[in-house]
Amino acid sequence: MNVVVCVKQIPDPAAPGALDPGTKNLVREGKLILDDSDAYGVEMALQLADAAGGGDVTLVSMAPNGETSGLRTALAMGAAKAILVSDDSLAGTDALGTAKVLAAAIRRAEPDLILAATESTDGYTGTTPVQIAELLGLPSVTFAKKVEISGASVKVERQTETGYDEVESPLPAVVTVTAGVVEPRYPSFKGIMAAKSKPVDVLTVADLGVDAGQVGAAGARQEITDVAEAEARSAGDIVVDEGEGYQRVIEFLEQLKVL
Ligand SMILES: Cc1cc2nc3c(=O)[nH]c(=O)nc-3n(C[C@H](O)[C@H](O)[C@H](O)COP(=O)(O)OP(=O)(O)OC[C@H]3O[C@@H](n4cnc5c(N)ncnc54)[C@H](O)[C@@H]3O)c2cc1C
Repeated sequence: MNVVVCVKQIPDPAAPGALDPGTKNLVREGKLILDDSDAYGVEMALQLADAAGGGDVTLVSMAPNGETSGLRTALAMGAAKAILVSDDSLAGTDALGTAKVLAAAIRRAEPDLILAATESTDGYTGTTPVQIAELLGLPSVTFAKKVEISGASVKVERQTETGYDEVESPLPAVVTVTAGVVEPRYPSFKGIMAAKSKPVDVLTVADLGVDAGQVGAAGARQEITDVAEAEARSAGDIVVDEGEGYQRVIEFLEQLKVL
């Protein structure tokens, strides 16, 4: 079972991010870290490869400046190798351009299964994985909360607003996993040391044979027109229990459709 995990390397969310005043894009000059959202995909891939009795977990990432810090974290968790696409001409690449680059890199790995997060922590358009599936001509299953391999198929419990759907798809397929699908392991000291010498294949747009006019700012069909501060959270409702508080709680949970 060969699994590819799409791994986005992002600026540390704990440090306030800066926006380029011209393009309003996030500045990605410093060290990038493994997006927490993708740690679930890495853990899921490791568990599926183990359950299948073998196979490799390959990471695929597109990031500027030959950045591998986030990839090394995922390699320390146990992934075998990584493909990094890094090229100055990719600056300004939008979600579809990113999908084109990642799809070309994934094709090289010839995986049985491709995992990604439902959305990244910094861009969170939630569109890249389904675009990858379309470009590769593969089925996609989104919002997986449980993933199981059964012969040449993947069985997925797909989170919905009211519960979950059971979906079965032939392999290869692209599956996006939700946060909490598994508990990501912490890299061990041995894993961290081993990760330093695991292979990371660094490729350019030309290496992948991707049309340079389809990526970068020139190929982008998305433009960031404005960025605004998120609204501050409201204080919430305080329910004073005078014997019937439970009814207010039930009504609230019903509104959220969790009951
Ligand atoms: C106009 C515009 C300009 C941009 N310019 C730049 C730029 O100059 N430099 C730059 O680095 N980024 C840039 N980006 C962001 C970059 O292209 C994003 O990676 C891409 O838009 C994916 O969007 P997202 O974060 O919303 O992914 P989502 O669709 O929310 O991601 C879902 C999942 O897909 C996978 N995934 C997404 N992106 C990557 C990736 N890059 N590598 C591996 N896996 C991935 C991950 O598993 C992720 O959790 C730009 C985006 C836009 C819209």
